[in-house]
Amino acid sequence: MKRVFFNPLEKGYFAHQEEMEKKILEVLRSGWYILGREVSAFEKNFANYMGSQYAVGCDNGLNAIVLALRTLNIGPGDEVLIQSNAYIACVLAITMVGATPVFVDVELDYRITSDALKVKITPMTKAIIVVHLYGHANDMSSIMDFAKQNNLYVVEDCAQSHGAEWDYKKTGTFGDIGCFSFYPSKNLGGYGDGGMIITNNMEYERKLKILRNYGSEKRYENITTGYNSRLDEIQAALLNIKLNYLDSMNDSRIRIANRYSTEISNRKITNKNKVLSGYESVYHIYPIEVEDRDALIKYLDSKGIQTIIHYPIPPHLSQAYAYLELKKGSFPICELISKHIVSIPIYSEMDDSEVSYVIQALNQYS
Ligand SMILES: *Cc1c(COP(=O)(O)O)cnc(C)c1O
Repeated sequence: MKRVFFNPLEKGYFAHQEEMEKKILEVLRSGWYILGREVSAFEKNFANYMGSQYAVGCDNGLNAIVLALRTLNIGPGDEVLIQSNAYIACVLAITMVGATPVFVDVELDYRITSDALKVKITPMTKAIIVVHLYGHANDMSSIMDFAKQNNLYVVEDCAQSHGAEWDYKKTGTFGDIGCFSFYPSKNLGGYGDGGMIITNNMEYERKLKILRNYGSEKRYENITTGYNSRLDEIQAALLNIKLNYLDSMNDSRIRIANRYSTEISNRKITNKNKVLSGYESVYHIYPIEVEDRDALIKYLDSKGIQTIIHYPIPPHLSQAYAYLELKKGSFPICELISKHIVSIPIYSEMDDSEVSYVIQALNQYS
């Protein structure tokens, strides 16, 4: 039986094996392993690529958001607006700094709108976290207008949208701070954990660098309660190599997604990605929706095709946030999506025959 894996990570490694193995040995032999010249070089290139003034490497995507919120002085007593279909990390970051998450329901195309944000504003609202989920950029023109009118900070969660653009500008460069994850399966994935924070504000850059390193700028002088959120040299060096291929890796994802969007014709399968035309996406994942999801997953599994659900339980219904007492039905659209959505394989090294096989299997599903 043919097998199509969801995202076999080793393929991205073998595509650049020689270059990366040579670099690993170079770093190992250098005698310097955390926050050194590889991290600095990667930060510089990443900022350049994104079109931002500054980039600050850190240990993962969750802590990138924590550092961003701390930099903006968000903490106890503050409310942060967050879309209800967000990945749990966004909500964890808000509660880790002691602030209160205020959920906002999304549209059927997974986006957040300023109309929905508006009704959730209170005098305690300090910031919005905008998640460019699945690699689809949000409408940053209207969100930024809304934020300015209401004097709110904007933190962009770009953990799924490396390289995605809204109106010819990269996601992460609209808000006050943009946060990235280099978890291995992301569009720009490392070989372990890693993260990055971008900003155009020099004061924020300084604070981010202090916070990621124990709250200290000068060794053993701690000016704030910081974290150990540093980036490793090996990760930075490997990510710096892969950054050179990010556009071509994204192009492959977009090519595959366009085939899915035009060639999947089964009427049982709704494909909300089509609705997003006009929105740039780098297709971190390719979600489809179907009435009887369990049956489709079982069918695809019998054809050797792996699927993953992003995400089956919205954060407000997770056990971790039961204390917020947000009952089922609080965010109907997001809850509906979570019951029917399922992601099909997409990764930059996926070949045409695999894409054809997935399309054929979906079109033959009855
Ligand atoms: C992966 C991800 C994160 C968290 O990144 P980690 O590096 O795993 O901590 C945050 N937000 C979104 C939307 C993600 O997909």
